[in-house]
Amino acid sequence: MKKYRHPKEKRAMLVTFGLAIILSLFFATVTFGCGLFILGIAFAWGYFALSGKNNLERLKKVSPNTNPDIWQTVESVRQKWGITDLDVYLHPTSNINASASDFGKNFIIINQGLWQAVKGEGQRKFVIGHEMGHIGLGHSWLSVIAYQADNAFAGTILSFFFQFILLRYSRMKELSADRIGLLTCGSLEASLEALAILELRKPNPQKVEIEYMVNYLKSRKANLSESFTEAFSTHPDIFERVEELIKFSKKLGLTSN
Ligand SMILES: [Zn+2]
Repeated sequence: MKKYRHPKEKRAMLVTFGLAIILSLFFATVTFGCGLFILGIAFAWGYFALSGKNNLERLKKVSPNTNPDIWQTVESVRQKWGITDLDVYLHPTSNINASASDFGKNFIIINQGLWQAVKGEGQRKFVIGHEMGHIGLGHSWLSVIAYQADNAFAGTILSFFFQFILLRYSRMKELSADRIGLLTCGSLEASLEALAILELRKPNPQKVEIEYMVNYLKSRKANLSESFTEAFSTHPDIFERVEELIKFSKKLGLTSN
């Protein structure tokens, strides 16, 4: 899966970890930076494992008996990417979203609202593929390490700049996950429809509304004010996601209509 990592994520990753290593080494010479760094990771591990476990215990685990349709889609995507040891949970919320983690334990949380809003196997595979992409590319692990590095020089001016680098890195991870989503469903159309549904945030979007949103997203690029807002956001501008997916599908030779 790793060869599909978006070049923008690779660059952001390099900058993030390059800086993290340089700064950690610098602080390690004057303080116990490295020791604190390792302690920090251990602490984060404990914290995430414990709080994650508590949160997950309240959710319903997806099984072939309870949710055969979700189970089937997840299983086919899991096998395609060779992800092992994965749990899937259904969150009883109308919020059109999903999330994933590979820190401590691989799991995906699918919100009921999202599963009801997406239509057809293609869109479902894009959504599950996107989350599986976060797991396969080790995004949670990389985030925890990067944020621990940031803690190592908290309170300094460097931390302020590092925040922007971290935010950019978070956004680029989404572009990579979108690529895995597209490769999973094999259809640019279904991928863009799924993104349109996430953007619409409606419980039961109609086909005509989805089509209208897809065309709108394809029709324009991010303007300057959107790019500026993006600099403070963990998620990339939706127009950038659409643009990058179209570019990637061309590269793969997927024909769109
Ligand atoms: Zn994502």
